[in-house]
Amino acid sequence: MRRVRTTGTGPELILRRALWRCGLRYRLSSVLPGKPDLAFPRERVAVFIDGCYWHGCPEHFKVPGTNTRFWQEKVDRNRMRDREVEDMLAAEGWTTFRTWEHDILRNITQVVADIRTLLSSPEGSHEDRK
Ligand SMILES: [Zn+2]
Repeated sequence: MRRVRTTGTGPELILRRALWRCGLRYRLSSVLPGKPDLAFPRERVAVFIDGCYWHGCPEHFKVPGTNTRFWQEKVDRNRMRDREVEDMLAAEGWTTFRTWEHDILRNITQVVADIRTLLSSPEGSHEDRK
């Protein structure tokens, strides 16, 4: 069975619309490490949508029968880079949120709820309440 090649814009658009509907205003243009799909500059939260295939989702990625090593190494490299990016962002005070594209397709409500929780966590804002 061949998988249809997607550009990843499907899940991204779904997430964007859902966030917008909830009044969560993100930025797209980003010069941050790893080029997050979305970013919330004020709360310093970077959102990445991981493609099930390229990032080796445990549920949907299966190493192909041919060029096995090539694919495994490619996915391993992607995952390693994901971690490096997370470290770089953390060093600049950003929190990384990663979601699988299948989570968006399956339960967008939960993904939005998770992002909302992250955005409202006190870690993001250091206001002095008086
Ligand atoms: Zn998946």
